[in-house]
Amino acid sequence: MALQVTFFGVRGSTPCHGDACSKYGGNTSCVEVHVPGHDPLFLDIGTGARDLGAGQANDGTFRGTCLLSHLHWDHTQGLPFFTPLHSPGAHLDVYAPVQDDGRPVGDVIRDVIRPPLFPVGVDQLPGTLNFRDTADSEFLVGEVQVTARMVPHSGPTLGFRLEWNGLSIAYLSDVQQPSDGGLMVDEAARAIAADVDLLIHDSQFTAAEFAQRSTWGHCTFDYALAVAEQCRVKTLALFHHDPARTDVALDAMLEHAHTVGQRGGFEAFIAAEGMTVTVG
Ligand SMILES: [Zn+2]
Ligand SMILES: [Zn+2]
Repeated sequence: MALQVTFFGVRGSTPCHGDACSKYGGNTSCVEVHVPGHDPLFLDIGTGARDLGAGQANDGTFRGTCLLSHLHWDHTQGLPFFTPLHSPGAHLDVYAPVQDDGRPVGDVIRDVIRPPLFPVGVDQLPGTLNFRDTADSEFLVGEVQVTARMVPHSGPTLGFRLEWNGLSIAYLSDVQQPSDGGLMVDEAARAIAADVDLLIHDSQFTAAEFAQRSTWGHCTFDYALAVAEQCRVKTLALFHHDPARTDVALDAMLEHAHTVGQRGGFEAFIAAEGMTVTVG
């Protein structure tokens, strides 16, 4: 039995559109982990969640779980467009990081999804949202064992490790690399990623961009490759592409990733919208 991982949004920061990014796609973070015989489970609810929702039960019978890495727009903007919630009876559990000031995550979301910022308030969505404020912890979602750890980014941010039937997936969508450009892996991130079958990791910047933006909460493509090698993962998905990164630039990076992966003993690919990968 295998897990199937489908990328509905792979961009960081803001959605983008046009011929230059049509191959890898322009929607922001949203990744479904399909577990056989299991309620829907996905990571982040960026703009890709609109397409994910279109394929779910839209008749009020939806029951599912979102593991939300953090509250930045690119990870939450798809929430009101997730159509299963447009039917009464639908239910979505959202595990999200506890905030530094202790404010409940549901209250933070209610403050941004409401008039005049949005036509309706989040509580006016017919479906039920249940926010579960989450610190470093281990818990079960159905049959899936989840490990959540706060990882370095900009503001409270969780990395997630999912384990099921001897298979493992790590999700580290937004990760601050040491600002001196070093390749040291944070202890919490290492706990999430160690020895997994699939690591989905931030790869937002080139080295030149990182030099200008070393405290923006992200990392370089080469840092993601170094994390994969140091954590002995089987496969690395390079993820959270900068909105300015063209398909041509990503294709060029793929060749480099293959070379580094061969040397480091792992497979690497560049996550693209619409792509499904089988784990196991
Ligand atoms: Zn992000
Ligand atoms: Zn972020």
